[in-house]
Order: sequence, then structure tokens, then C-alpha cells
Amino acid sequence: MNEVIVIGAGLAGSQAALAAASLGVQVKLFEMRPHKMTPAHRSSGASELVCSNSFGGEGDTNAKGLLQAEMRLANANIMQAADANRLPAGAALAVERDGFSASVSAALEANPNIQIIREELTRVPDEGVVVIASGPLTSDALAEDILSRFAGGERLSFYDAAAPVLEFDSINMDLVYRAGRYGQEADYLNCPFNKEEYLAFYARLEQARSHTPHDWEKLEFFEGCMPIEEIARRGIDTPRFGPLKPKGLPDPRTGREPYAVAQLRQEDAAGQLWSIVGFQTGLKWGDQKEVVQTIPGLEQAEIARYGVMHRNTYLCAPKLLEATLQFKAHPRLLTAGVLAGTEGYLESAATGWLAGINAARLALSLEPVVPPINSMLGGLVRFLATAEAKNFQPMNTNWALVPELEAHEKPIEFQNKKKLGKREKRPVLFARGKKEFAAWLETIKL
Ligand SMILES: Cc1cc2nc3c(=O)[nH]c(=O)nc-3n(C[C@H](O)[C@H](O)[C@H](O)COP(=O)(O)OP(=O)(O)OC[C@H]3O[C@@H](n4cnc5c(N)ncnc54)[C@H](O)[C@@H]3O)c2cc1C
Repeated sequence: MNEVIVIGAGLAGSQAALAAASLGVQVKLFEMRPHKMTPAHRSSGASELVCSNSFGGEGDTNAKGLLQAEMRLANANIMQAADANRLPAGAALAVERDGFSASVSAALEANPNIQIIREELTRVPDEGVVVIASGPLTSDALAEDILSRFAGGERLSFYDAAAPVLEFDSINMDLVYRAGRYGQEADYLNCPFNKEEYLAFYARLEQARSHTPHDWEKLEFFEGCMPIEEIARRGIDTPRFGPLKPKGLPDPRTGREPYAVAQLRQEDAAGQLWSIVGFQTGLKWGDQKEVVQTIPGLEQAEIARYGVMHRNTYLCAPKLLEATLQFKAHPRLLTAGVLAGTEGYLESAATGWLAGINAARLALSLEPVVPPINSMLGGLVRFLATAEAKNFQPMNTNWALVPELEAHEKPIEFQNKKKLGKREKRPVLFARGKKEFAAWLETIKL
């Protein structure tokens, strides 16, 4: 039967459904919201972005930039929705979250091959080709079913956190200045600390941290989304060498770099909502507000959405999955997104695209495919299938996922250079990956 079932209309599931439908198969897409919400989602919209509104850096020296380019070549709807709802964010691809979700929802609803069923699936269907894309907050019943029947009872989880979002009108723009790091586009709002202010902020943060449940501190955090209180626990200077670093952000009033800087990133098209960059937190809400208000310029800040912290669930991909995103022991089942061991909106959507293509191919009795090794998506899915299983952690896009340049791939001008610098090497890796991905797309056309 030319039918595919997709569980979850998040980043991975929406893109999986749209990719499968584009190959002419019928898709049943199950989504439990709004009847049953997750702790992080707030709407019934498809592909809701639960934390930041960024799809990561762009450009030909950026690993995410290559994955974005590949998804554009594949006509992935998620990239079209991102491009249509883009917000200014310097060198990053940030989107207006409601418009983005509305665009993806509209694409799903308009597709005659897709039937959206608003229902929680508590059990993986026993027959048919199924893409499990229920994400890091998979409902308990389904998680139990996946883990007991398809994952050898082995659950892995870590904690992930979202940053608070502030109302623009409550920010003191007499103190806060617009700038981009090292003279990039002035898309960010910057709150400058002097030393005294930083020490006061740190003291309040430390006090707030001691109010939060201590069992969090024993838990494993994903480095890319470490809560600010956990960063602070590592030392008084750790925040100002991390998310509060002032480098390349001189205050125009003094011409000097402040002692520390908290950056705010635009969240909505109207510029009414701004989130604090790298300030994910699970602090109690009362404490959270007080900590935010010790940041210079945010003394009167109104918090539109508090930061939150959630458990994430993912499978041990190297034990369970093929690079095609099929379960090794259950080839009619595929998975994508965070559950499959990726981390990030873009990675979730990209693996969703591949799972959707492969699910449709299985339904059409065709062999599943894997993108070329030099492409970013090819590197990512190969990593999932072959990483060290023992300490497996969800993976973000990065340059280490693709092979180094071979001697003959070096540009003529660098032929005699033994080791290329990042800036010399990355555009070449980018062009190589993009070209091979484009050529591969031609070979899988039906
Ligand atoms: C709190 C939090 C903050 C995050 N912040 C960021 C960030 O800032 N940047 C970033 O790039 N990534 C972030 N991530 C990681 C990740 O990129 C996102 O979670 C992303 O949405 C994952 O995509 P997904 O498709 O795997 O899951 P989701 O987008 O969560 O989609 C899963 C869908 O499945 C549905 N579902 C679950 N169980 C069932 C069921 N039994 N039946 C039917 N439907 C079901 C859910 O309602 C949901 O719509 C964050 C994750 C969390 C949890």
C-alpha cells in the first residue's frame, strides 16, 4: 500500500510528511496537540519553535549554512517557510516563529496527499511504514512503547532549557545599545555591565541557583543549551567568557568593551519581543525575574515568556539506527529529529526530510537512500549510525561530520600549503558538499 504514517507534526515530522507526499504517497500525520500538549509547546501549529527562533549561522564558512543550502536544493518546505519568515539577525537565520509555523501548517493542510489526524498515538502501529518523529517530549505512553518494543528498554535523556523573552517597551534603550559583534549588522540589543554590576548580577544568580532543586546539578546537560545557572556554577568568570562575553561589542558611548554584555535577539517581526541570547534557564520564575532585572538596562524588564527547562528523550542511534534512519531490527520503522539523536531545529527538519523520502521509497518498494558522505546531511546520518554508542549524545551540525579535503581537492593557490586554515578550507568543503548533494538529488529523482 502506498501509505506512510508519520507520528508528530514538529520540525522533523512536518518535513517528513511533506517530503513523502511529494513522492506521491499518501501520508497520515498524527499530532497530539492541541488535545494533549507537551511541557514546551504552546500552540497547535506545525513545527512550533519551542525556544530560540534561530536556525543557526549562515554562509559558506558555516556548517549549518551548508545544511541549509542542501535543504534549499531539496526544496524542503521548512527552508521555504524559514526564508519567507526571516528576521534580521546578523549572520544567523532567525525567523518570526508564528509566521514560520503558520507557513508549515498551511503547506501541510494544502497538500492533497496528507491527512492530519489530531490524536495521540500511544503505540507504534503494528503494520506499515512509520516515521516516528515525536521529538524530545514524546508522550509518556508512546515513549514507553518505543523503548520497550524497539529500543531494548534503553532510554537516554538529558536536560534542555529555553531562555526568557522580554517586552521591548520595558527595556531601557537609554542604556542598551544596538550592535553586532565585530561590526556585523547591528541586529542585537546589548546590555553593558561594569565590573560592579556584573558582580551584583552574579551574586543574585548564585543565590537564585541555590533555590532550584539540587538534583538538576547531577544531571547531564547538553553543552549547546546549558542553563545560565549551570554555567555560573562553573565559576564567577564563566558567564562573561561564555554567553555574556563583551568581545567585539564596544559601547558607542565610551568606545570601550564593557566588562560583560548580555545580548538580546529579536523574536517577532514587529520587534516587540526579545530573548536573552544564551540565557536558557530553569530558575524559579520569581528568582528568574529578579536575576534578569539585575542586568543593566533590564531593571524594569517585563518577561513575556519565562525560561523553562525540560527533559529530552532520544534513542541511542548508533545501536539502533541505519544511516537511512531506519531501525536496524525493524526496517519498516524510521525515525528523525531529536528522538533520532540529532539536536537543533535545522537538523530535525533535515533528518525529517530524509526519513520522509526513505519512508516513501519503502512504500513504493524502492531502496532507501543515504546522501553523499561529503554533504552535511550525509555526514550527520552517518554519524548517527556509527558514533560511539557508550557515551552517545545528540549531535548538532558541525564541520567534523564531513571528511577533510583530500590533497587533490585543495584549491590551486593552496596546493603547496600543508595545513589550510578554517577560512581557507571551509568554503571549499561547503562548495564540495553542495555540489555532491545536488548531483545526488538528480540520481534519486523518481
Ligand atoms: C525546551 C526545549 C528547547 C529547545 N531549544 C532549541 C533551540 O533553541 N534551538 C534549536 O535549534 N533546538 C532547540 N531544541 C531542540 C530541538 O531542535 C527541538 O526540540 C525541535 O523541535 C525538535 O524537533 P522534533 O521534530 O524532533 O520534535 P518536535 O518539534 O517537538 O515535534 C514532535 C511533535 O510530536 C508530537 N507528539 C509527541 N508525542 C506524540 C504522540 N504520542 N502522538 C502524536 N504526536 C505526538 C508533539 O506534540 C510535537 O508536535 C529545544 C528542545 C526543547 C525541548
